[in-house]
Amino acid sequence: MNLSELDTTHHYLATVQESDRITPEETDEVRHIVLRVPDATFSYLEGQSVGVLVPGPHPFGNPDHLRLYSLASARSGEGGTFADVSLCVRRCFYLDEISGERHPGIASNFLCDAKPGDAVTLTGPYGRSFTIPRDTTCNLLLIGMGTGMAPFRAFLKRIYDEDKTWQGKVRLFYGARTGMDLLYQNDQKNDLAQYYQEENFKAFEALSARPHVDDSPALDRTLQDNATEIWDLLRDPKTHVYLAGLSKVADATERALSEIAGSPEAWHNQREELLQEHRWSQILYD
Ligand code: FAD
Repeated sequence: MNLSELDTTHHYLATVQESDRITPEETDEVRHIVLRVPDATFSYLEGQSVGVLVPGPHPFGNPDHLRLYSLASARSGEGGTFADVSLCVRRCFYLDEISGERHPGIASNFLCDAKPGDAVTLTGPYGRSFTIPRDTTCNLLLIGMGTGMAPFRAFLKRIYDEDKTWQGKVRLFYGARTGMDLLYQNDQKNDLAQYYQEENFKAFEALSARPHVDDSPALDRTLQDNATEIWDLLRDPKTHVYLAGLSKVADATERALSEIAGSPEAWHNQREELLQEHRWSQILYD
């Protein structure tokens, strides 16, 4: 999604209701942030994102700094309150390769520092291609890492808490460095555990063998360990595939699915079919 092409003319004023760290102190900070948007015209579908507009001036940015964040809540609102939406935000830092200095990312630090009662300006929502199909007999193959979990949390809340009629298979493959980084499935916040008992849902964790390195081989491995089921799903015309999170999710998935398909060409052909039938969607960022 090209930020400069987004329509940002309409602003929604939101107020922070809650901000909870959902990773322990020993690892990267990720927060679950609940925002109240009193304007009843604000509505969205699971998988869409909102723009967060941080007022300037900024030393290294545009006058208004805009960044996108996936909505982690479903369309009926966080905790069933329509006006409340949630975001899952990683506090980002960037290293200046020349000076070696570490700089805070503008929008993620603005959001992670915001306290209950603080104001946040939203735009959007954006992205209609990363949404759940209407046909509840479809299968969903969800593959993600890190904060890519946000749209998948919204999907699962919609399917199991709100709609409750989903019949297709739902398979979640989720990569993280350690168990502490498994968002919404760790000791800090575990609200996805309630879905493990659902008959048509299975979650597969892919934890890194090198927890100090932010790599992705674990996701390749976990996908390959489940090759038969994944290949059957990919060849089923009712399956929709979703990739979310850092762009290395796409690299890991590409490697694993080429192996599973038997060759990069076989995978390329299968992927073309998924793309042409609008059954492949991705939200990737660096
Ligand atoms: P930025 O300020 O954008 O930093 C960007 C660049 O500016 C850096 O690469 C660096 O080179 C430079 N820079 C920044 N500050 C300085 C400085 N002080 N000095 C020198 N150079 C500097 N993220 C999430 O956490 N959760 C989500 O659910 C999520 N969903 C997304 C959905 C979509 C569709 C997209 C496209 C992205 C999503 N992101 C999400 C990523 C998010 O939009 C931001 O990119 C991320 O939070 C970093 O933004 P920032 O403003 O903190 O950093």
